[in-house]
Amino acid sequence: MANDPIGVIGAGTMGAGIALVCAKMGYQVLLLDADPVVLEKAQEYFLSTLSRDVEKGRLTKTQKEETLRQLLPVQEMELLRDCDIVIEAVSERLELKKSIFRSLTEVCRDTALLCTNTSSLSITEIAGGLPHPERIIGLHFFNPAPVMPLVEVISGKKSSSKNVEKVFQFAKELGKIPVLASDSPGFIVNRVARPYYNEALRILSDRMASVEQIDRIMKQAGGFKMGPFELQDLIGIDVNFSVTESVYSHFFHEGRFKPSRIQQQMVQAGNLGKKTGEGFYDYDK
Ligand code: NAD
Repeated sequence: MANDPIGVIGAGTMGAGIALVCAKMGYQVLLLDADPVVLEKAQEYFLSTLSRDVEKGRLTKTQKEETLRQLLPVQEMELLRDCDIVIEAVSERLELKKSIFRSLTEVCRDTALLCTNTSSLSITEIAGGLPHPERIIGLHFFNPAPVMPLVEVISGKKSSSKNVEKVFQFAKELGKIPVLASDSPGFIVNRVARPYYNEALRILSDRMASVEQIDRIMKQAGGFKMGPFELQDLIGIDVNFSVTESVYSHFFHEGRFKPSRIQQQMVQAGNLGKKTGEGFYDYDK
């Protein structure tokens, strides 16, 4: 399969990471984003990550150059027409994702596997009304994609088991540990993780403890690698908020999933975490 190009749509936090994972395994990757600045940033990320790999002896200089050559930034969907697999990683908005998949069904072969990296949206809903929904499948990487081994493979109501199996094998080829998850809000990991963020935000709004205290306690006493606020800053507060909103609405507004005003205000203010330099922590200092 390593000769067929892979398409990755969205070159932000996740898309860039996924593209790098694929390129390191020898795939040619066409990385598409609507924003040329994001594509430039992705190139800088590839260069710095691969250079660090060379410094640490994990890659040779030749492997670094080869990997960089595999990563092609593009801006036109039409260029993805020969891809056998496309992985969509644009912002977590249903209508946006649906429009991307509609365009993909017009551009790509009927047999191309069309995957979404959504954290919480319904695969069935993304595929709803599109031709050949049997090849639309969830392929959910975790952040940072080159580091985290787990990948959720999610079957929509109309995904075919043959295609789900192909995507599962593809994730294995990428060196990941795939797990099958059913198409329910937040799948497995993001559903389990919602109370981690939500309760931490409630403790903060009840003024029971500060951001730093909650993070420190969860790491020192709870054994978590990252506290809930550090994690939100890494994920992107906008992304985390969208996921919570989506899980809340898809569970018919069950109170336990209710989003937090604190998060909402941070998104409104543009304090999105590491990517903007300011979130629960200040990264410009
Ligand atoms: P991001 O905001 O970093 O990147 C999204 C990118 O999509 C942006 O670069 C934007 O320019 C691009 N985009 C928007 N509209 C587009 C269009 N019409 N055509 C092409 N590109 C377009 O977001 P992210 O954190 O990378 O999240 C992407 C997806 O991955 C979301 O569905 C999110 O839920 C999921 N996800 C995120 C994380 C995380 O920790 N951030 C983890 C797992 C999954």
